[in-house]
Amino acid sequence: MREIIIIGSGPAGFTAAIYAARAGLSPLLLASSVEAGGELMKTTDVENFPGFPEGIQGPELMMKLQEQAEKFGTEVILDDVTSVQLEGDVKSVETGYSGTFEARSVIFATGSAYRKLGLPDEERLSGRGVSWCATCDGFFFKTKTIAVIGGGDSAMEEATFLTRFAEKVYLVHRKDTLRASKIMQERAFANDKIEFVWNSEVVGISGENAVEALTLRNTVDGTTSELPVQGLFVAIGNDPRVHFVHGQLDLTSEGTIAVAGRTSKTNLPGVFAAGDVIDPHYRQAVTAAASGTVAALDAEQFLAALDQTGDEESAAVVAEIVDELVAAE
Ligand code: NDP
Repeated sequence: MREIIIIGSGPAGFTAAIYAARAGLSPLLLASSVEAGGELMKTTDVENFPGFPEGIQGPELMMKLQEQAEKFGTEVILDDVTSVQLEGDVKSVETGYSGTFEARSVIFATGSAYRKLGLPDEERLSGRGVSWCATCDGFFFKTKTIAVIGGGDSAMEEATFLTRFAEKVYLVHRKDTLRASKIMQERAFANDKIEFVWNSEVVGISGENAVEALTLRNTVDGTTSELPVQGLFVAIGNDPRVHFVHGQLDLTSEGTIAVAGRTSKTNLPGVFAAGDVIDPHYRQAVTAAASGTVAALDAEQFLAALDQTGDEESAAVVAEIVDELVAAE
């Protein structure tokens, strides 16, 4: 049986792996078969990760994190987790192709998935003009007119990036103010190819075999209008990936995995969570990495207590007491 399985391969998962591997726990990291590397694989310039004054490309940063985790003895398997069993001393994690793995502790760093508009034609036209990833699909929209939906940093980043290819980018937002950071807003405002469409939500997507137009509803006066576009990039945030822990781990009202205070401890002994899957607010690569560190340290402490006590419940209590003693120092 393994000491620790880490599920997820974003900054939280790989940072947890670096720490757990350096602690001699030989972690197994399960990275998704299609989305390994997480959100940063779909990002271009990362300008705010400390230590890279010139910026770094998202995929390059993820490759470096993986290399660092493997260097200290992390085993990485590209496979999808299909189910987990988290109660009791032996946790088991079933994967699509590689079988079932068992460990004394598990860290969830499963991140979050793109939010959808929830329109009937969104799925039908997915890959035919509807996309959630500008860096993956932007190239297909050379000289086209497209719309980006959302008012956060993702929408600003996608819109700005897409002007490299598209003739024109409409940025459609349901309010008249943006949630995005000032620097990202200013970059988008300064770009002549981007036109803002305020107070508008998408209520329909039309097109037989590819996107041809959007139906917009004005959120102030309720009127509708047609916006002819050949592409639609949805950048309206993400939802935590928690589907396989339902019924086993407690969730917060925001849908993230509930953890105790500033720790990574879930409601089950030996089960920890880190990164975007516990964080509805900050959601930065660097905060995810820090959260992965916390999870690895919590898991390490739990496993040491388990070695001393021999059972999970006592180990969780001992780990708790150690926490309190450290805090009191
Ligand atoms: P956010 O949650 O920050 O923003 C989502 C946006 O989409 C909001 O403007 C929201 O509108 C809008 N929205 C949500 N649901 C709908 C809907 N159903 N229809 C229409 N609009 C909708 O998500 P982001 O993905 O932009 O950012 C997430 C986090 O990642 C943030 O912390 C951000 O700072 C970070 N990030 C940082 C980047 C960077 O620094 N380079 C790049 C990308 C992301 P409303 O405002 O009305 O709620």
